[in-house]
Amino acid sequence: MAGRFAPSPTGDLHVGNLRTALGAMLLARSGGRGFLLRVEDLDHVAASEHHEARQLDDLARIGVRGDDEPVRQSDRLHRHLEVVAELRDRDLLYPCYCTRREIREEIEAAASAPNGPAPPDAYPGTCRHLTRDERSRLERDGRRPAWRLRADDEQISFVDGIAGERTGRVDDFVVVRADGVPAYQLAVVIDDADAGIDQVARGDDLIPSTWRQIRLHQLLGLDSPEYWHLPLVVAADGRRLAKRDGAISLRDIVSAEVTVEQVVAALLTSLGMDADAIVGGDPSAPGWASAQAQRFDPSSFGSEPVVIDDLRASWG
Ligand code: GLU
Repeated sequence: MAGRFAPSPTGDLHVGNLRTALGAMLLARSGGRGFLLRVEDLDHVAASEHHEARQLDDLARIGVRGDDEPVRQSDRLHRHLEVVAELRDRDLLYPCYCTRREIREEIEAAASAPNGPAPPDAYPGTCRHLTRDERSRLERDGRRPAWRLRADDEQISFVDGIAGERTGRVDDFVVVRADGVPAYQLAVVIDDADAGIDQVARGDDLIPSTWRQIRLHQLLGLDSPEYWHLPLVVAADGRRLAKRDGAISLRDIVSAEVTVEQVVAALLTSLGMDADAIVGGDPSAPGWASAQAQRFDPSSFGSEPVVIDDLRASWG
């Protein structure tokens, strides 16, 4: 039994990511679970060891450490490809030659609304029924396919620890990208299952991915973990945080006036903790995380987005 936090090393973590990381760690440890960090570095263009080191360092400073050395997703490629081969053998995959732009145009052109919520980037099924000749023609034109799962527009429901019951339809999503790299949806399912992860806490922007991942669990005969999708930290007008919102990474926030301890206390308060339940002192010190976890009550997680200005007011 274990929980995990799985950042993509494509830049510095912002306070929203740090809040999710703390929530995931406290949730796991307060329930007596193990806790792991996984570096999701499959996107070799955007990911770097430089960002990885900075992220792990920031996490350690706020008291978020795994029980073992972090797992690197790129070290597990052979496992991802093993499962891809299994899915292909079972005729559950088909090659898709569409570009993002073609998919967007097709979705825009579709007159009728889909039945029930579909993921915002749902695939309209264009390449599902290509003939052998059509595939060969596209390959001769130099197109390289991504591989999509036949998800059969299945409707999936799950009960989230924070967001309650969530239902959505699953489109035919990509499991191997056109450059041959396993897609996030596939890698996350295999890596979580192989590591014995039975609890996933992450940002609520990933709820549409959850329906897809549960579909993969079904097809691969895996148990789905329990899910806790934490609301994001947003700008005052509800937008996702961006660089223009000022200091949002730990390195930018911590200064002569603001300590790591204050930032962590503000994040814990935003996770629903009472001030008197917050353990003081350096969060990176041994024992801090387990002492804090003992005082953590997951039923206090809020289900509304947190505004960055409110956090700033509480550490400022
Ligand atoms: N690597 C993903 C991200 O940073 C999170 C994946 C997950 O928690 O399932 O957005």
